[in-house]
Amino acid sequence: MEIHYWNRKVETADPSERAQSRLADLRATIDRALGTDFYARRLGEAGISSGDDIKSLDDLKRIPYTTKDDLRSAYPYGLLAVELDDVVRVHVSSGTTGVPTVIYHSAEDIDNWTELAARSVTATGADRRDVFQNMMTYGLFTGGLGLHYGAERVGMMVIPSSSGNTQRQIKLLRDFRTTVLHATPSYLLHLHARLAEGGVTPKDLALTKAFVGAEPHSENTRLKLEAMFEIDVYNSYGLSEMNGPGVAFECVYKNGMHVWEDAYIMEVIDEKTGRPVAEGEEGELVFTTLKRRATPLLRYRTRDLSFVYDSPCRCGRTHRRIGRIKGRTDDMLIINGVNIYPSQIEEAIMQLPEIGNNYQIVVEKSGALDRLTVKAEVHAGIFSDDARDMNALRRKVIENLRSSIVITPVVEFHEAGFLPVQEGKAQRVFDMREEDTA
Ligand code: ADP
Ligand code: ZN
Repeated sequence: MEIHYWNRKVETADPSERAQSRLADLRATIDRALGTDFYARRLGEAGISSGDDIKSLDDLKRIPYTTKDDLRSAYPYGLLAVELDDVVRVHVSSGTTGVPTVIYHSAEDIDNWTELAARSVTATGADRRDVFQNMMTYGLFTGGLGLHYGAERVGMMVIPSSSGNTQRQIKLLRDFRTTVLHATPSYLLHLHARLAEGGVTPKDLALTKAFVGAEPHSENTRLKLEAMFEIDVYNSYGLSEMNGPGVAFECVYKNGMHVWEDAYIMEVIDEKTGRPVAEGEEGELVFTTLKRRATPLLRYRTRDLSFVYDSPCRCGRTHRRIGRIKGRTDDMLIINGVNIYPSQIEEAIMQLPEIGNNYQIVVEKSGALDRLTVKAEVHAGIFSDDARDMNALRRKVIENLRSSIVITPVVEFHEAGFLPVQEGKAQRVFDMREEDTA
């Protein structure tokens, strides 16, 4: 396989060479952080008054974790480390729970982020000849703008179509011979259904790749998308607190996402004890920014669960890989005492070719017990209103779920297009028990 690098030197550097610059960058980051109200207090409490107090990368452990709540408490300026005049952009999180969080970027920050995004898309083999249709939402959400700049830097023709308006997306896809898509996996499933309705097949399009991210999805969903569109699908991970897309990306081998370790220090911790997990074990990802000027973050707890591969990648990049994100620690459902992540349910149902493009997970109280209902769309031609026709498939779904999550769900089948579709991140889980107790 042909391997393309955007920045071969940095991407393939020996990790021991990188250690020196990482330590220097960490010290500089701490010095900048000390300029913020929040970290002046936090680091002061930990007895750190200068970057020089950090003698080795291992000393990072002296620094307390930073949480989403910390970011909220520092809103709006408590984490700003440069003069406001030097800020060229802010991204503000949706703040569904009330107080939003904000990340500031200086011109240099945007430049560094763009570099990471350029590296990321190049790792998949995409290049300046590509036509890149960016179906992620542009705006306060980082998904749109993040890869936009990276793709431009690589020299692709970028179509900033943003999310939604599926008919227009399809027109753009056809008229401009789009070769690379960027979208949430749930939106691509929806897009495929609309294409199929209009009689458009992969042969009518010029697509070769898609980058998918922003929400958990299973390997089965990737395979499904690859088969539907006859393309390669690459996993892309990022979060606004660490810029957005371009934190970790799959290369042509599609086997875990390379984390750009010259820009971030990654740790994996036990989400309950806060201690590092053993190598290769699953845990919560924690990141420290090494390059960011305007909003340095130290040991930020993402709540995202993943694990680190221990083997080097055949592509030659020396930046470690993480596995597919299982979900967020706060996505975990406890159903009749059993801990379940929605991604486990997705994995179990998306294995079945009869299952269509959309599903929902509903949890309710049923007397003293919890009841799990899985609502899944079924492909046209297979769906029948007569429950008896669907019984064989129902048994397969129940068997798959029972063997993976040890719970027997209620299974409801629906016609394709029945369940609602979100433009951005899909809402899959409806936990009605919370409303019952509210
Ligand atoms: P919000 O926190 O409001 O969802 P973000 O845009 O910062 O806004 O979302 C980042 C989060 O999205 C990550 O922390 C992670 O939970 C999820 N995410 C991003 N990329 C992926 C991916 N490739 N796979 C699974 N989850 C992802
Ligand atoms: Zn690789």
